[in-house]
Amino acid sequence: LSGAMTSLTLRVSDLAGEWDRTGLIPLELLRELGAEGRLCAEVPEQYGGWGLSSLHSGAYTAHVGGLCSSLRSVMTSQGMAAWTVQRLGTAEQAADLLPRLTGGALAAVGFSEPGAGSDLAAMATTVRRDGDTVVVDGHKKWVTAAHYADLLVVVGRQEDGAVAVVVPTGTPGVRIERIADPLGCRAAGHADVHLDGVRLPADSVLGGHGLPTALLVTTALAYGRMSVAWGCVGILRACLAAATAHATVREQFGRPLAEHQLVAGHIADLYTAEQVATRVCEHASRCWDEGSPDQVVATVLAKHVSATQAARGAATAVQVLASAGSRDGHTVARAYRDAKLMEIIEGSSELCRLMLARHALSAPG
Ligand code: FAD
Repeated sequence: LSGAMTSLTLRVSDLAGEWDRTGLIPLELLRELGAEGRLCAEVPEQYGGWGLSSLHSGAYTAHVGGLCSSLRSVMTSQGMAAWTVQRLGTAEQAADLLPRLTGGALAAVGFSEPGAGSDLAAMATTVRRDGDTVVVDGHKKWVTAAHYADLLVVVGRQEDGAVAVVVPTGTPGVRIERIADPLGCRAAGHADVHLDGVRLPADSVLGGHGLPTALLVTTALAYGRMSVAWGCVGILRACLAAATAHATVREQFGRPLAEHQLVAGHIADLYTAEQVATRVCEHASRCWDEGSPDQVVATVLAKHVSATQAARGAATAVQVLASAGSRDGHTVARAYRDAKLMEIIEGSSELCRLMLARHALSAPG
């Protein structure tokens, strides 16, 4: 794994700032990384993945998150698509789709709609059966990586519940509309997806039948939450590294910034944030790897803690660097914008707090 991290560092090198400014990661690079199984590294080896445990995948995701949150976001989408296929698809669907996802095809996952953000039970996208086909109609919003994607995993309603359907982006009736100038993760390829009478073979529906909306959504989002949580650990590590390096070298009032106690306090806060986020993520990943019943709540906790720590920690890092970090493309400036979005996606901080409160209130003792 450390070899894989080093090789990725060399390939991203200092390009993340440029990708952030141009709003694009080169498509060839994404395909190359995808074809090496790097974008969904938990997929079992039999399907061309690396078969990483959640803990190892987390370490890798944090590494990518520290280099470039846009790339990590693309990776989260790909991993979430693969996870959804693994969890909900039939053996035939897994055998067909997973090797494509580890072979260079890029994927994105669409839940959110104009009327269904936090409240996914309000989804209006329909997946109607019609003989041996299904017809998809709807509008998905803010789909990360949709601009790059070959395949979309779209969540909608069928007669018997919620379904996830795999939609090739080249299918007639699919229109992908790029979101201009997002606040952060600017090269993650966010787009709105319009689906108008999109006709697909009936076996495009994962598992072939509907599930309760909450069950389907929780299953798919669980992977995304872990990935975002570990990505936030990476953001914190990058911020800590930038802040300590700057505070050691930059002098004001005749001594390094780090020797001014209020600045040292910022460094201590950043270190604490990084450590706290790392520990909650490690705990959650161990729950995944051990199949613990605490997995669901540990995942929500990891996502919530890491995202809030990253948003606060990135602001602290900008404060330490001050004007030196206050330009587009700089590590801490990117982190500041990227981290804020982590408090919104995969279950906002408010939704996470509601889930954690529900858990605390229902837990015995
Ligand atoms: P709203 O639901 O309108 O919420 C607005 C505010 O009200 C939030 O602070 C929210 O927490 C709060 N709120 C809402 N309901 C409650 C409540 N009951 N109690 C307390 N507070 C509440 N979607 C996808 O499907 N796929 C993707 O890949 C994807 N990627 C994204 C990437 C980015 C960068 C962003 C910004 C969004 C992405 N989304 C994606 C959409 C994302 O999932 C939604 O933005 C998110 O679920 C929140 O929905 P909303 O923006 O409509 O906010």
